[in-house]
Amino acid sequence: MKIHEYQGKDILREYGVAVPEGIACFSIGDATKAAESLGGAKWVVKAQIHAGGRGKGGGVKVADTLDEVKQFAGEILGMNLVTHQTGAEGQIVKRLLVEEGASIKEELYVGLVVDRASQQVVFMASSEGGTEIETVAEETPEKIHKAFIDPKVGLTIAQASTLSSAIGIPSNLTDQAVSLFQSLYQVFWDKDASLAEINPLIITNDERVMALDAKFNFDDNALYRHKELVELRDLDEEDPAEVEADKYGLNYISLDGTIGCLVNGAGLAMATMDIIKLYGASPANFLDVGGGATSEQVTEAFKLMLRNQNLKAILVNIFGGIMRCDVIAEGLVNAAREVSLSVPLVVRLEGTNVEKGREILTQSGIAITNATTMADAAEKVAAAAGV
Ligand code: GDP
Ligand code: MN
Repeated sequence: MKIHEYQGKDILREYGVAVPEGIACFSIGDATKAAESLGGAKWVVKAQIHAGGRGKGGGVKVADTLDEVKQFAGEILGMNLVTHQTGAEGQIVKRLLVEEGASIKEELYVGLVVDRASQQVVFMASSEGGTEIETVAEETPEKIHKAFIDPKVGLTIAQASTLSSAIGIPSNLTDQAVSLFQSLYQVFWDKDASLAEINPLIITNDERVMALDAKFNFDDNALYRHKELVELRDLDEEDPAEVEADKYGLNYISLDGTIGCLVNGAGLAMATMDIIKLYGASPANFLDVGGGATSEQVTEAFKLMLRNQNLKAILVNIFGGIMRCDVIAEGLVNAAREVSLSVPLVVRLEGTNVEKGREILTQSGIAITNATTMADAAEKVAAAAGV
């Protein structure tokens, strides 16, 4: 789950991390009032969407007068903000953050992720803040410094101060940096985050180390123990199909291809997407209905896939292990009848009671193409989609 920058900054503030004062706004009126109550002579008007790269896309503007705050709020609210993280379709801006303007001396970068290779949380820091960290990683990887964190100990003062000097923070600010880094790690740990990123981390002209941006992803599997985070969820920022899927306990991710996939088991679902690619087509979604899908879930899964305007064909690939193929076939037939299928359907069933299952499909009268192997299924569905 992702949250907005202003929500991330609220959490950081709770943990003692220095962040600019700011107020979340939903209208132009809110924005000018916010700027007035913040006071000062410079403000930043920031689009709040669940994607980075807002600055480049015109979603972050520095205002020198209250009139400019009003103007920028008007321009940004409601705009379709396109960044390298939103994809070409962009994201409509519905919330703003109005902040006191910071006077920036240096823009740095710090971030935390879980590193699978070392099975530890890794703290990354770079002097190259403000730019896309992906570019730094690609072109000048030596400018990203890392510390791997022992979960029993946490980020040590020694690790934090080594990172601080590695990215050029002057020694008179080491204490501020160390305390900020340790607090950021504590947020990551306490909240079961999977990503925390401060880009830029700044040094101000008056010698303060501050988080000017805040990006967090949280582990969905740990949300049950973080009611306070669940409350921050903004469904407007999420894919409607994925939100719907969540209600029915389906693991669904929208993709940009044309072949709908309904599969049981995440591993088989990944393999199915791979083989679709191998046969020249591409998946419209990832969908794992799980090991014990009910007829209702299968029906909802079909509805989800059929919402997609790009859909050209559906491939159902089910391995009946604990679940029996005849039960699945019945569910499929019910679902196909209920949703009045508008695209070709290719079905591959394998496993327990497969003969019975195929018989049910054949006798249903629904136009279904049966497939035997994975390759057969992929070839047939690509052909059905006209690829
Ligand atoms: P992102 O583009 O989505 O990552 O949004 P950021 O919050 O990182 O803002 C983008 C850029 O706007 C930053 O790298 C800064 O250069 C600039 N910026 C943001 N806040 C301020 C501020 O208070 N003062 C000034 N001068 N620049 C700012
Ligand atoms: Mn940023």
